[in-house]
Amino acid sequence: MAMPEKRYVLITGGSRGIGAACALVCARQGWDVAVNYTQDGAAAQSVVEQVQALGRHAVAVQADVADEAAVIAMFEILDAGLGRHSVLAGLINNAGVVDKACRVEDMTGERLQRMFAINVFGTFYATRQAVLRMSTRRAAPGSNRGRGGAVVNISSVAARLGGAGQYVDYAASKGAIDTFTYGLARELATEGVRVNGVRPGIIDTEIHASGGQPGRARQLAATIPVQRPGTAQEVAEAAAWLLSDAASYSTGAVIDVSGGRSCG
Ligand code: NAP
Repeated sequence: MAMPEKRYVLITGGSRGIGAACALVCARQGWDVAVNYTQDGAAAQSVVEQVQALGRHAVAVQADVADEAAVIAMFEILDAGLGRHSVLAGLINNAGVVDKACRVEDMTGERLQRMFAINVFGTFYATRQAVLRMSTRRAAPGSNRGRGGAVVNISSVAARLGGAGQYVDYAASKGAIDTFTYGLARELATEGVRVNGVRPGIIDTEIHASGGQPGRARQLAATIPVQRPGTAQEVAEAAAWLLSDAASYSTGAVIDVSGGRSCG
């Protein structure tokens, strides 16, 4: 696949944690970067400045991925902004949330709506817009669109472990992401777009605090075969490889980055 010299990747939830680490690893590998966020514009701007310090173009763009209109508006902003410097050739669907630990019978409809709206629908919404721009099926003469690309979906080993007693909703949302990866990879296999996933294990980020357990990553170290939580950087390295041309024969693959914690 002939790719233009300057390419950018959109990273949803790029303002901190795994998304921020993806932004910096991708920038070091030559990508321009669009950093999506919802709440913390200052954190997203800090990531943008770190990417720019590496010599790449970068922009922060606010959108709740669960809001399809906001996602469409975000891509239009990027078309007119970062898209003047480089072509959209990558999407990392990283934005995701957990909720407080509880059993399934205690999960409210409101909780389930939010979980699936962000983790699943948000991934579909962003990917739809990316495919409209990347698929060679959509290529038009003289257009910047339709030159191919790669999508990486951030799943979780919870998709296989199930999250019993704590996060079955979250685990099921990540199971949906794995199925999405397998299906979309085949749908786009002849259209220049590769689709892969990464299943992180327990990674030391702020997501655990948002689920009411700030010390969770370190507390669970003894349950992980390698006896430590992973770092956002370790997940980002796998995502960036799947995004890169070095992974040109990989599509429909999901890599565990979990210190050996990957099944029952
Ligand atoms: P994190 O530290 O909580 O960061 C989440 C990021 O997502 C933030 O940048 C946040 O931006 C953004 N975000 C949240 N809701 C959003 C929405 N509706 N629209 C757009 N952006 C949104 O999380 P993390 O640990 O880096 O996790 C990143 C991904 O890895 C998630 O999909 C998570 O499920 C997955 N994962 C994490 C672990 C782990 O142990 N950490 C394990 C397996 C999988 P704002 O702050 O601006 O809202």
